[in-house]
Amino acid sequence: MFCYQCEQTYRGQGCTDLGVCGKDESTATLQDLLVYAAKGIAMYAHRARQAGATDPSIDSFVIDCLFATGTNVNFDPIRLASLIDRAAAVRDQAKALYERACPGAAPLGGAAAFKPAGSVEGLVAQGKQNLIPDHLLAVGPETGNLQELILYGLKGLGAYAAHAKRLGASDADANGDILEILDFLTLPSPTVDELVGMAMRTGELNYRIMKLLDKANTDAFGHPTPTGLRLHPRKGKAICISGHDLADLYELLKQTEGTGIQIYTHGEMLPAHGYPKLKAFPHLAGNFGGGWQDQQKEFPTFPGPILMTSNCIQDPKDYKDRIFTTGPTAWPGVRHIANHDYSPVIEAALRAPGYAEDGPDDEILTGFGHNAVLSVAGQVVDAVKAGAIRHFFLIGGCDGARPGRNYYTEFAQAVPDDCLILTLACGKFRFNKLDFGQIGGLPRLLDLGQCNDAYSALQIAGALADAFKCGVNDLPLSMVLSWYEQKAVAILLTLLHLGVRNIRIGPTLPAFITPAVLGVLQEKFNLMAITKPEQDLAAILN
Ligand code: SF4
Repeated sequence: MFCYQCEQTYRGQGCTDLGVCGKDESTATLQDLLVYAAKGIAMYAHRARQAGATDPSIDSFVIDCLFATGTNVNFDPIRLASLIDRAAAVRDQAKALYERACPGAAPLGGAAAFKPAGSVEGLVAQGKQNLIPDHLLAVGPETGNLQELILYGLKGLGAYAAHAKRLGASDADANGDILEILDFLTLPSPTVDELVGMAMRTGELNYRIMKLLDKANTDAFGHPTPTGLRLHPRKGKAICISGHDLADLYELLKQTEGTGIQIYTHGEMLPAHGYPKLKAFPHLAGNFGGGWQDQQKEFPTFPGPILMTSNCIQDPKDYKDRIFTTGPTAWPGVRHIANHDYSPVIEAALRAPGYAEDGPDDEILTGFGHNAVLSVAGQVVDAVKAGAIRHFFLIGGCDGARPGRNYYTEFAQAVPDDCLILTLACGKFRFNKLDFGQIGGLPRLLDLGQCNDAYSALQIAGALADAFKCGVNDLPLSMVLSWYEQKAVAILLTLLHLGVRNIRIGPTLPAFITPAVLGVLQEKFNLMAITKPEQDLAAILN
């Protein structure tokens, strides 16, 4: 196996024997093969689309394939093998679509001609013929690494498209662009300029998909409003729900109404507490635990079942009997809930002890989406003009296990009192329980939401730029971002596509960014690695 798609990759270079995330060789190789099969689908479906023929079921399946191969999503070789078999059938569907749209066209080769072996072992052997190091040798490191950068951006936006799809929101043009970009990745010798251009297009596409998901979430559940949420339990039976999928949370809340079971959010589900239609459920009790990487020590202490809805599952060996997966997520031997019927989770909660007593009433705030922040934009602009707010910091992104991530806690703590901190995604667990006080009645720490709510951050930045009649790069705003997996790659590409400069990124730079590409990003966007909190703060503020 070879995998270097996330930040915790072994020695910052690549996981080869076993993933640091727990992904074994079979699973890693099957994920690569599924991507290969998805490219084969895209080769036909993109050409069919150019001839005016589309099939939403094909688009939908490709999105699911991208999501399934993200970090900490699907660890189950059997489920991956079944997706690969289905990919071959969907490829045939795309081929037929193409042949109807372009009668007489010759069949395509390469990934479009993929024939899956008849067993998991056979598929793993097929996958080994297509490992990344061999590809890098064949096409050269610049081309190969840029192709991987684009692919990881696609995986990230595929996750957002999948969440939007779950709420019935889809954008045919965006889906077509996903197919086009996947098809582009099958070209034998693209130029570096073409690859960089396609990376920027991937960022533009991610912006559209985050907008689609923002609309889907807010249409379904209302615009988030500032909301306090409990950090400690209430007495009674309990279910913990983790991941990003608000539709899954809504279903679970509906199905547990009247049962006496309290629902606790975990990880990226925390911002759900700000959505009016979700917080209207009185048994949405609070938030459990800290960053996703602490789950193996925290979940054993949770007195009920756990439902994982998207990224972030780790080996649940100590609580395998009471963790469930749904949607794209899977772990071998863990019960998977299809069709959103959570009866097995509810039954497990009723069997489990639950919490014996109420915990303390401490709360933190979430719910500062773009609508909420822009409703007080005038107050914010006046505070900046009066000198009460000196600077805005967006400190956001993914959390992870590396010790270097303490940088983000230390940075947030060192931000002077006359500066506002915007945050989003799970990196906030490094500091979201600290008291940052207020400026003129506004909390100094504003939680904008999940990682996809980078869309909110961009709306807020755009509105501030309009108010001050300047560009986003001229605002007193600095972005200090942490990355872990492919959604962060998609967001970074979006920021670069929008021309945002001076972004600081850490805790380490991606292994798939070559020195030459980094040089281009530094020159064009002044993208830089984090250093020391005090050093970076001084450079920003002085
Ligand atoms: Fe390694 Fe990350 Fe790939 Fe897991 S997803 S195998 S930790 S690079």
